[in-house]
Amino acid sequence: MAEAGQSKKRPLEKLDRAVIFIGPPGAGKGTQAKEITRLYGAPHLSTGDMFREHVEKGTPLGRQAKPIMENGGLVPDPIVMGMIGERISRPDCAHGFVLDGIPRTEAQAKWLGELLKQGGFGRPAVIHFVVDPGLLLKRLTGRRMCQVGGEIYNVYERPPKVPNRCDHDGGELVQRPDDREEVIGPRLQAYAEQTAPLVEYYRSQGVLADVDAAAEVADVTRRVTEILRKAR
Ligand SMILES: [Zn+2]
Repeated sequence: MAEAGQSKKRPLEKLDRAVIFIGPPGAGKGTQAKEITRLYGAPHLSTGDMFREHVEKGTPLGRQAKPIMENGGLVPDPIVMGMIGERISRPDCAHGFVLDGIPRTEAQAKWLGELLKQGGFGRPAVIHFVVDPGLLLKRLTGRRMCQVGGEIYNVYERPPKVPNRCDHDGGELVQRPDDREEVIGPRLQAYAEQTAPLVEYYRSQGVLADVDAAAEVADVTRRVTEILRKAR
């Protein structure tokens, strides 16, 4: 219902700045980025999309990034920042944008700060999605996928009517290898270690606001729009 009501409203005022989403995997950043960019009519920038575009078009940055990505390596900061600098100089970013999943480190944050200054954007608004690690672990390891139709369930948050059976087609529900605790645990740990200095960096600049990401999706969206309004 909230969805239908919101879609009738005019877009909110322009963002007119860079909005940065920081949060662990499973915190709902992607969902919120979609919602916020829809409400404000601003582009949603993700490194995944930028990488794909540069590789497909065969740009110099794309040609440098391609072999690294194919080998599963981390694309070095100069390439990543080159792509971001190019992307935010495009006309659709003139009234602000949402960056999701970047920067990942304090070094990237400082570099990005320079790019924003050069682009005339000033200081970003940083939204920090906070979720209790135990809850996150439950959320991520509770995911189950239907082997027939690929529907996603969650044994804790969205259980099927009959245990381990898909509501639509009765298919068996299985846990994907990537959702196992042995995989998720270290991923969350690595995230926490890498982003703690990044969060402190933005907090010390006075541009970061914490959001309780365990709340309902609509409540999180409302809180983010409130922060963006107040941060003007
Ligand atoms: Zn199914």
